[in-house]
Amino acid sequence: MSSTRVLVLNSGSSSVKYQLLDMRDSSRLAVGLVERIGEESSRLKHTPVESGRTREWTGPIADHEAALKAVAEELSRDGLGLDSPELAAIGHRVVHGGKHFTEPTVIDDAVLAEIERLIPVAPLHNPANLTGIRTAQALRPDLPQIAVFDTAFHTTMPESAARYAIDVKTADEHRIRRYGFHGTSHAYVSRATAKLLGKSPDEVNVIVLHLGNGASASAVRGGKCVDTSMGLTPLEGLVMGTRSGDMDPAVIFHLMRVGKMSTDEIDTLLNKKSGLIGLCGDNDMREIRRRVDAGDEQAQLAFDIYIHRLKKYIGAYYAVLGRVDAIAFTAGVGENAAPVREAAVAGLEELGPVVDGELNGIRSDEPRLVSPAHARVAVAVVPTDEELEIATQAYALVKKNN
Ligand code: AMP
Repeated sequence: MSSTRVLVLNSGSSSVKYQLLDMRDSSRLAVGLVERIGEESSRLKHTPVESGRTREWTGPIADHEAALKAVAEELSRDGLGLDSPELAAIGHRVVHGGKHFTEPTVIDDAVLAEIERLIPVAPLHNPANLTGIRTAQALRPDLPQIAVFDTAFHTTMPESAARYAIDVKTADEHRIRRYGFHGTSHAYVSRATAKLLGKSPDEVNVIVLHLGNGASASAVRGGKCVDTSMGLTPLEGLVMGTRSGDMDPAVIFHLMRVGKMSTDEIDTLLNKKSGLIGLCGDNDMREIRRRVDAGDEQAQLAFDIYIHRLKKYIGAYYAVLGRVDAIAFTAGVGENAAPVREAAVAGLEELGPVVDGELNGIRSDEPRLVSPAHARVAVAVVPTDEELEIATQAYALVKKNN
């Protein structure tokens, strides 16, 4: 029997999310996560898809190695163990691949060293990703381990979009440029949008709006990213759950000089205490909408600022692309919050996109159009599936190499 399964691992600083997929039909065999690694009350939640019976377990899990061992044990209980000959590869989500990792990559020592070298530009994410990789390697040293980078899809951006207008020597010395993130999602959603339109990706231009707790927009021309809103780090761009997105960089000097705040304090302010939570005390769009509907002015202002920024990016990417075939909404907010989709597109009729109120109100897990048939520019809702995209890319690479 040939090996057709891929285990996808998304290792965070204190969590590991995983999915086991069978690539014959892209079906899921098991999904789960380990949270609060390193604490007394770590939690493992595991669901074998066939039975659908979730098993939960709480207790101390000291580190990523222990976490992955616990996951391996759970998988074994369902006959899906990591020692199975059906396992073809382990696909790892790696947040920062810098400029050079443009494709999914088989991990070897040189690749590990490069991911490590990128830690200064991804201090929170790359160390956790590396720990996940090393632990998986120890468990199955014979198996291809594939890195799928969040930044890879954006490496096609032209230099005019990727380079900041600062001193070139300083920028190059510190590897400062627009890298962009959520690339796996932007890749998946832009392709799925083309499919929804009955076209191949190279025929369509799409603005993808990935609106989750983190949020980013991208301009995709003929299947290739030409601009994206996140930059050196995921702080730039749209208003997010807890991140400010765009602002005058001089705000930082002002907070240092006048506010007497330290670098770490400002980092925490802009990444964790800004965006929607900073504006109105809530970062969950459901709660914000509830408050807006109840007449809460602070929540209304937060919503308006969120929408204003989104509109600015839609307009900017119209100009970047010249012609737009579709605007695609994805991730927690984009997939579920009909009022956000409606407000973001309202008033843009002259440019082509229109949202049909009735279609927009229908809840569904399927990719779908929420624009009327006559709209010149389609508005799509495409549930993102980063795990499937990672598994697809990893499996394609393993098959190519065999
Ligand atoms: P993600 O980062 O993609 O998991 O998105 C998480 C965010 O999606 C949450 O913080 C919520 O703000 C938002 N979200 C999830 N479900 C809904 C919903 N039904 N309506 C509005 N927002 C939602």
